[in-house]
Amino acid sequence: MLNHTNSAALFDQAKSLIPGGVNSPVRAFRSVGGGPVFMQSAQGAWLTDVDGNRYVDFINSWGPMILGHAPEVVLEAVREALQGSLSFGAPTQREVAMAGLIREMVPSIEKVRLVNSGTEACMSAIRVARGYTGRSKIIKFEGCYHGHGDSFLIAAGSGALTLGTPDSAGVTEGVAQDTITVAYNDLAAVKAAVDANPEQVAALILEPVVGNMGLVAPGPGFLQGLRDLCTANGIVLIFDEVMTGFRLAPGGAQELYGVTPDLTTLGKIIGGGLPVGAYGGREDIMNCVAPAGKVYQAGTLSGNPLATAAGFAQLSYLRDNPALYEQLNATTTRLADGTRKIAAELGLNYTVNQVGSMFSLFFTAEPVNSLDDAKKSDTAAFGRYFHAMLNRGIYLAPSQYEALFVSTAITSDIVDLYLSACRESLQEAH
Ligand code: PLP
Repeated sequence: MLNHTNSAALFDQAKSLIPGGVNSPVRAFRSVGGGPVFMQSAQGAWLTDVDGNRYVDFINSWGPMILGHAPEVVLEAVREALQGSLSFGAPTQREVAMAGLIREMVPSIEKVRLVNSGTEACMSAIRVARGYTGRSKIIKFEGCYHGHGDSFLIAAGSGALTLGTPDSAGVTEGVAQDTITVAYNDLAAVKAAVDANPEQVAALILEPVVGNMGLVAPGPGFLQGLRDLCTANGIVLIFDEVMTGFRLAPGGAQELYGVTPDLTTLGKIIGGGLPVGAYGGREDIMNCVAPAGKVYQAGTLSGNPLATAAGFAQLSYLRDNPALYEQLNATTTRLADGTRKIAAELGLNYTVNQVGSMFSLFFTAEPVNSLDDAKKSDTAAFGRYFHAMLNRGIYLAPSQYEALFVSTAITSDIVDLYLSACRESLQEAH
């Protein structure tokens, strides 16, 4: 067993100071048991904790660190930005360059607004859709997570799902009534919801590839079906690409699947590891945002020089090195196929879902295309597997309902390490 003495002491102290001892719920290891590991530093594929243990990182800060930890190209850009100070609260040249780069990589984004997190991006996109259409309701999918805005904490995925609070306390009934939820990949259910609420639905928001109930891919024709339905009914289609943006392709899931949303929300990779989000899309819709239009949205630190510099450096690197995506996908295919094969050899036949550099091992033999499917997983066995992997130096997301993120720092040797740990850990968990 690894020694976690310092982590355990810090967690005890943290619990007396911070709710649950953490600043974001899923970090607490609640569903897998035990306390979290406190991290000290990271480089490339590797994390080092406060007890000196090293782990291969498959969380990558929940997605942003696509180039691995501390990539020189991003660090250098931040060092340079620091020369000009920390924050101005006034427009900068960097923000203009960043907006131009986002539009170049994601052409459906004709105009974009920078914010500080994915949550802010999604909350703002919904407000803009409501302002643009003059309608109140939104449709979202069970198990999709769009941050912690009130409207989204209805049948939410990610930490809310992991903790068993997909409908959060503190969200008023009035707000909840304006959020209609349907099962992912069920186009007929979406049609029925639209028909039942004629001219009332402002927006349909979804993760085009879901990463927040484990990894779930859209079925054939699902995204295009949603596009057609929204166009026919005057509904603003919002792709939440906070996870998938710049990850599944330089232009995100919309490039990969060839389906164009009206608005897109971004986060994670766009900040290069610093806090940034963005929302953008059709010019006629985005022109509703203040001060151009009457939908109010603002931010003291929006477009912060350091965060913008980090994000710009990371995005430019991805744009200039498109071969990275083939490498990432090939590495992830080795990980996903290898995991599937090992499980089958052990007689477990578990489902492994993969899209690009995201994948999930579900502890169920049934296909997983929706939240109901994901919930068939044996979460107790997952918890044992998680700890067996951690003990072998493999840092996975501490929940069945999260995807794993692969970075370019994962080498072939590290894949071998992962696969041998996976075999031993699956055996140990059963
Ligand atoms: N949307 C998706 C798809 C996410 O995965 C997340 C966070 O994990 C968010 C929105 C919220 O982003 P943030 O945590 O930066 O507020």
